[in-house]
Amino acid sequence: MSIKTIPHFLNGAESNGNGSRTQPVYNPATGEQTGELRLADAADLQAAVANAKAAAESWNDISLARRTAVLFKFRELVAAHADELAALITAEHGKVISDAKGEIGRGLEVIEFACGVPQLLKGAYSDQASTGIDVFSYRQPLGVVAGITPFNFPVMVPLWMAPVAIATGNAFILKPSERDPSPSLLLAKLWKEAGLPDGVFQVLHGGKETVDGLLTHPDVDAISFVGSTPIAKYVHETATAHGKRVQALGGAKNHAIILPDADLDNAADHLAAAAFGSAGERCMAISVAVAVGDAADDLVIKVKERAEAVKVAEGTEPDAEMGPIITPASRDRMKGIVTAAADAGAELVVDGREFTVAGKEGGNWFGPTVIDKVTTDMEAYSEEIFGPVLSVVRIDTVEEAIDFINANPYGNGTAIFTSSGANARKFHRGVHVGMIGINVPIPVPVAYHSFGGWKNSLFGDKHIYGEEGVAFYTRAKVVTSRWPEPKQHSGASYNFPSN
Ligand code: NAD
Repeated sequence: MSIKTIPHFLNGAESNGNGSRTQPVYNPATGEQTGELRLADAADLQAAVANAKAAAESWNDISLARRTAVLFKFRELVAAHADELAALITAEHGKVISDAKGEIGRGLEVIEFACGVPQLLKGAYSDQASTGIDVFSYRQPLGVVAGITPFNFPVMVPLWMAPVAIATGNAFILKPSERDPSPSLLLAKLWKEAGLPDGVFQVLHGGKETVDGLLTHPDVDAISFVGSTPIAKYVHETATAHGKRVQALGGAKNHAIILPDADLDNAADHLAAAAFGSAGERCMAISVAVAVGDAADDLVIKVKERAEAVKVAEGTEPDAEMGPIITPASRDRMKGIVTAAADAGAELVVDGREFTVAGKEGGNWFGPTVIDKVTTDMEAYSEEIFGPVLSVVRIDTVEEAIDFINANPYGNGTAIFTSSGANARKFHRGVHVGMIGINVPIPVPVAYHSFGGWKNSLFGDKHIYGEEGVAFYTRAKVVTSRWPEPKQHSGASYNFPSN
């Protein structure tokens, strides 16, 4: 297999950059190296920021009508290249093709939302706010913004950010995950083909050094980050200390409550899909099932049947439902966590630790796993496993289940399965979590709402995309204006102005 070089995309063209360092990229289903990623050095970072700064100034002067035309064209190009993008995602991330297409679909929604930017930037006007005085307010872009993204959604997460940042008049630098960087280059080419001026969307590859360079650069105005909690916290602290606006979305431990009055077959279907889909490598995956009252025994039997039936294979197989884990290191970490839970007395109902795919033994395989009677002192509960592992916790009442969720340090997503509207209402009003599903296991909001968690799942005060995204990438300006008739001067007034 030939190994491709994966370049940056700077100022409208692919570039190997100045830096000499590289990093291997693998296919997680085979374990084979498929790419050599160029890593930026300090000069590459300086060049990217300088390009973006120059591009932002002219891009903000381009009419809303022309900006919108670029967004519409980009939307059409992403849709037309969905197969190609999905193949790139699966080759480096490992998720199944249908799932890769699903993330592209969610990304398209955000582009469609951003196509409505003229409406979103309309501003407000108060006629005759005081005698002869009008007041109007509107929002202007920040300038240069950077997006630092995780491996698990190499297309969707960059598309949560860039369309809104660009539509509102900013230049955007994407620092993608080093594990699956190729889809971001195709996105860059599609932006260019859509007519976006050079330098408005750039891709700069690198690790901590590059991230630190963006967090501290005086010409970078804002940082959007999505990734694990320790890095989100670090990014938020470092970039705010350097005067930047920051939204840093972190990790998760998402609980689903299953009440005895729920349709347990329906709940088990959704739980299995939410726990094992995309090999559990979703920040909105359900990793803890909170079985309330006597729901537990039947639920565990039903989830077990579904976990054992999941078709695990290379993501390119037409009937594959779940692919490999991103790295051997994450797979081994999961094995350790599951083993420790079993040793501490939890029941291993389905054990995926030794799972492998015949003929693909070099891949990072881990089968769907269900652990019952998990307790909070086990790492299976306290750690974000980020794999196809569902822990079951047994609790007596819905009130205790809500308190249990609220005691967890994460607050990204949560769900309830019930046929009681009263319990559902008690739940959504009472949980300290940002995104809530009622009989919906993975409640990722549509693009015209907004995405974000609470507590250790989001550092910063603005969600990503939706109107919160527009507010994040712009700042308000308020103009108070008076146009006196010629020669009608009111004379100097030394009092505080009154109306
Ligand atoms: P990660 O935190 O390891 O990496 C995310 C980004 O940060 C990458 O671009 C990486 O290069 C960079 N990075 C890594 N270490 C760094 C360091 N020490 N200093 C500066 N930058 C660094 O996350 P990941 O493993 O790629 O992704 C999985 C994590 O992302 C999970 O915790 C998952 O829950 C989270 N996630 C959260 C959301 C959300 O919306 N809240 C969405 C997707 C993923």
